[in-house]
Amino acid sequence: MKKRISMWLGAAALVLCLTVIACQPRKDSAGSNANGLAAGKGQAKYVFLFIGDGMAMPQVSSAEVFSTARSSQDITVTKLGFSKFPVTGLTTTYDAGSFITDSASAATAIASGNKTLNGVINMDVGKTQKFKPITEYVRDKGMKVGIVSSVTLNHATPASFYAQAPSRSNYYDIAVQLAKSDFDYFGGGSILQRTGKGNDQQDAVELAKANGFTYIDTKDDFNALKPGSGKVIAVSPRLQDDGTMPYDIDRKPDELSLADFTKKGIELLDNPKGFFMMIEGGKVDWACHANDAGAVIHDVLAMDAAVRAAIDFAAKHPNETLIVVTGDHETGGLTIGFAGTQYETFFDKVALQKRSYVAFGDEVLDPYKANTPAAGAKLADLLPAIKESFGIDINALSAFQKEQIEFAFQRSMNNEQERPFAEDRYLLYGGYDPLTIKLTQMMNQTAGIGWTSYAHTGVPVPTFASGVHQEIFGGYYDNTDMFRKLASAMNLKIN
Ligand SMILES: [Zn+2]
Repeated sequence: MKKRISMWLGAAALVLCLTVIACQPRKDSAGSNANGLAAGKGQAKYVFLFIGDGMAMPQVSSAEVFSTARSSQDITVTKLGFSKFPVTGLTTTYDAGSFITDSASAATAIASGNKTLNGVINMDVGKTQKFKPITEYVRDKGMKVGIVSSVTLNHATPASFYAQAPSRSNYYDIAVQLAKSDFDYFGGGSILQRTGKGNDQQDAVELAKANGFTYIDTKDDFNALKPGSGKVIAVSPRLQDDGTMPYDIDRKPDELSLADFTKKGIELLDNPKGFFMMIEGGKVDWACHANDAGAVIHDVLAMDAAVRAAIDFAAKHPNETLIVVTGDHETGGLTIGFAGTQYETFFDKVALQKRSYVAFGDEVLDPYKANTPAAGAKLADLLPAIKESFGIDINALSAFQKEQIEFAFQRSMNNEQERPFAEDRYLLYGGYDPLTIKLTQMMNQTAGIGWTSYAHTGVPVPTFASGVHQEIFGGYYDNTDMFRKLASAMNLKIN
């Protein structure tokens, strides 16, 4: 039934796409023309595009509330660096096959102005026609290009700014396109499957070096990068789940942050002809999938810190810089409010969380499982670590809440691996470890934060703009318009 409904929605959206918008770059809804700016206006020479993956208004608002109002008695909201921007827009995110996009079709829409299907990178719905991302137009104009992400550099969002692929899972093929590209700076997470899925292909990093890239993955080498270092791939010295930068909540103070990779990009890319840099806060989405609001909020704030680096740069080049911050879609159905807490919020509880759900698995649960026979495992053994990680004192919870945690603990210890998951297993914990997800949910719920899904949702995302041509980012428009608006601001010649 579910499949039939989604097939129907897919077919309907595809027909809509083919008949109404013809899947071509469109004139943007604000009436700006991609090739012509209003007379007398300069062009944006330094352009920053920040994409919070999975970041819609609830993710932004949660970070704002967390930043100030820690209790229901303290009703103040401090805006983030980017939510203070003078121009705000709303962007629709549906793709050619679904009202709920994935990161590949969403980033394709933003990068090349075309709707496509979930999973497809810069190709049409038939997977034959290739789309040219905005970065190529930027490069053709003589500007430099930087691509930064907290997830792997060949993941869907960054890939859409330099590659074309019928499937986002073709990681090696995408890595080879990265290696062969003539863009100037890649920074953040590592390169997934760099020697192929079966470890039997030529190392994409070696290919990149042969193509003139300097590859670094230590902090000393990162600090030594200077203007004139040439084309650079800079990878976080510490990697977490699946080769990504650590969640910001898990990052140690001396470890490189998304802001550090952004500042380094500014340093390396700054030149008289200008640059375009896309910076993705990619793990906002990953934390949302796991319904881990603490990790979400810290990664939104990490992206805001990166935006502040761009704001500092803009202060030195006020008439030539444009900063745009948007999301590609919402993830998790996050909201401020939960049935059990009604009109109250307790964000002070979020501040007690010290580990992401991933770090809890790596540092607490997995070692415990490895050292404890299932028959001897007791929830009581983990209570100190649970309190330290999530701020949850299980003895202070209600009987109903304790029962849920005990139930999840037993399922965790039984190492349930069935796939596809039983319906109750999926609805309760998604594809994650039951105890870990129950703990993140419990912490969220006691804080007054709710979730509806372990996947993406179809609501619009906010877009914030500051700088030269900021005004064209106001209004309610489609994600494909983002391409036209950026092209317009940079006065790119689109063919
Ligand atoms: Zn996602």
